[in-house]
Amino acid sequence: MSTISKKICLFGDFGVGKTSLIRQFVECQFSDEYLSTVGVKISRKLVSSSKEGLDNRQDLQLIIWDIEGSNKFKAVAQNYFQGSKGAVIVGDVTQPETLNHLREHIQTFLTVNPKSYIVVALNKSDMIAAEYLEKIRKMYQFTDQANILDTYITSAKTGNNVNEIFQALATRLI
Ligand code: GDP
Ligand code: MG
Repeated sequence: MSTISKKICLFGDFGVGKTSLIRQFVECQFSDEYLSTVGVKISRKLVSSSKEGLDNRQDLQLIIWDIEGSNKFKAVAQNYFQGSKGAVIVGDVTQPETLNHLREHIQTFLTVNPKSYIVVALNKSDMIAAEYLEKIRKMYQFTDQANILDTYITSAKTGNNVNEIFQALATRLI
């Protein structure tokens, strides 16, 4: 068994839950307080994948980059995304304008890393009635974009689909 490391980024509007998703995934914790991110925070987590039909298990260390939400961001996006093999693009189901920005965020990321994989996280699903969630998910599938693996309804608060978004990326990166 061997371990490899890959960089991934979280990207999306301010306040959608990027830092909270990472915290839930890495530390299994959630806080209602705003966890302001100053500059860039880098977290690491080891994930495993056993490919079907193969005996050898492969461990992957995800190096997760979290950046503070800022309008000045575009200028530094190039540096931040450099060398990233994947991204989680995050929107907030309680703030429709953050969902409308998803496509632009995807383009910004792909401009720097045209061959990277992306998962889309529609976060704060605990705040919206279940009957609306599937409708929203269908609206943000981005099936025209080959790099997008899937769109997930997530909650950093309950943990819903949090492991799944990172595992989906990790499985593709191994
Ligand atoms: P960021 O700016 O994208 O990093 O957003 P944060 O992770 O700092 O979250 C912004 C606010 O939304 C904080 O008050 C969080 O507690 C809250 N929040 C984040 N994710 C969720 C979630 O899934 N459900 C709920 N109810 N609140 C969330
Ligand atoms: Mg943050």
